Amino acid sequence: MAREAIDARLAPAPAETLPLSECIGRVLREDVYAERDNPPFDRVCMDGMAIRSEVFGKGVRRFTIEATQAAGAPALTLAGARNAIEVMTGAIMPRGTDCVIPLEEYDVEAGIVSLNDKASAEPYRNVQRRGSDSQPGVPMLRAGIRLGAPEIAVVASAGLARVSVSRPPRFMIVSTGDELVAPGLPIAEHQVRRSNAYALVAALREHGFGKVGDDHILDSEEMLQQRLARHLAATDVLILSGGVSKGRFDFVPKVLKSLHVEEVFHQVAQRPGLPMWFGVGPEGQAVFGLPGNPVSTLICLIRYVVPAMNTAMGAQAAAPEPIGLAVPVTRGRPTASFVPVSIRYDPDGARSALPRMPHGSGDFLALAGTHGFIELPPRTDAYPEGFVADLYRW
Ligand code: AMP
Ligand code: MG
Repeated sequence: MAREAIDARLAPAPAETLPLSECIGRVLREDVYAERDNPPFDRVCMDGMAIRSEVFGKGVRRFTIEATQAAGAPALTLAGARNAIEVMTGAIMPRGTDCVIPLEEYDVEAGIVSLNDKASAEPYRNVQRRGSDSQPGVPMLRAGIRLGAPEIAVVASAGLARVSVSRPPRFMIVSTGDELVAPGLPIAEHQVRRSNAYALVAALREHGFGKVGDDHILDSEEMLQQRLARHLAATDVLILSGGVSKGRFDFVPKVLKSLHVEEVFHQVAQRPGLPMWFGVGPEGQAVFGLPGNPVSTLICLIRYVVPAMNTAMGAQAAAPEPIGLAVPVTRGRPTASFVPVSIRYDPDGARSALPRMPHGSGDFLALAGTHGFIELPPRTDAYPEGFVADLYRW
C-alpha cells in the first residue's frame, strides 16, 4: 500500500539524450528499432569453402578455388558452378554459393579443394540468413529497459550514437540526531557512530544513483528548519534518517509540514520500519523520512525508495523474486515483517533463504554478509520451512 501511495505521487523523471558511452546503467526512454536486416546480409559463420549445394548433391567432391571472400569486402560472384570460394567468418556469402564447408571436411592441394567423407552441404549450412535476428522497423529494445552491456551493443547495432534515457534524480541524505559522531572522530560513551548516511549513499550508488549529497543535522527545530529548506530547494529527493518517531526531539514531521511538504503517510504497518514518513514538497520533491534505526533505514530504502525511483525513471517493474525459507520462523507476526536473509544454494541447484534475525532494529551487524531480506506477510501461525516470500536484494 505504501508503495502504491508513493508511486501515485511521484512525477516521471525527465529524459535526456546522451552519447551511448554515457548511457550505461540508465533507463531507456525510447523504443529502439533495427536500422536494417540483422544480419544485414547472408553471413558466413565459419571459416571454410563456399560452394553451391546442388552441385554437391550431384556427387561433385572436387572444386577449383576461384578466390577468397574476406569479411568487410563486397560480395564476389562464383564464376563456375564446380568452383569454390574460400570464405572467412563474418564475410558476405559470395553470389552463386549457398553453403560453407568447414576446414575439417576438406583438404587443399594445388588450388583444388577435395571434400572428405564427413563433408555435407545442405543449403545455408554455416550461413546466418539475412534478417534472421531482426528486420528493419522491428523493435529491438523497448523503453523502460535498463541499459547494461548487451543492450548498449544492441543500441549501437541499430546505428544510434545517442539515445534518450532518464535523468536520475539528485538525492540529499540527511541524518538527524545529537548522538551521532562521524567515523574518524573521537567518540564518547553516550554517543553513537553515524553509519546510516554511509549505508544509504552506498546503497543508492549500488542501485545506479550517483548524485547523492549528505548532511548531518542536530535535533534542533531551528536548524532543521533552515537546512531542510536549503536542501529542498536543491534536490529532487530528500531522504532523512531518524527523527520521525514520537520522541520529544523527533521534529522532522513538524518541520517538513512548516516547509509546505505535504504528508502522504506517516507510519506503515510493518516491522521494522513502522515510523516511516513520506511526503511531497512544493516543487514535487519526494521526501522520505526513514526511521533512524540502522536496520529499518536500509530496509525501507531498498523496499520503498529504490523501487519508487526506478518507477519514476520509467523502468520496467522488476519481477518479484520468490524464495522459500530454509528453516522455519517460529513466531507469527501481526504485521508484515522484514527478515534479513542469506541465500543458500544446494548442490542440486535449489536455493532457499536462511534468516538472520537481528536482535532488534538497531542490530545492523546482523545484516553484514546477508544478500537481502524477505517480506513475511502478517500471520498468526509460525512460518514453516519452505514458506515462500518475496526476496529483496540489498
Ligand atoms: P530515531 O529514529 O532518531 O529515533 O533513531 C532511532 C535509533 O537509531 C537511535 O538509537 C539512533 O541513535 C539510531 N540512529 C539514528 N540515526 C542514525 C545514524 N545516522 N546512524 C546510526 N544510528 C542512527
Ligand atoms: Mg533521533
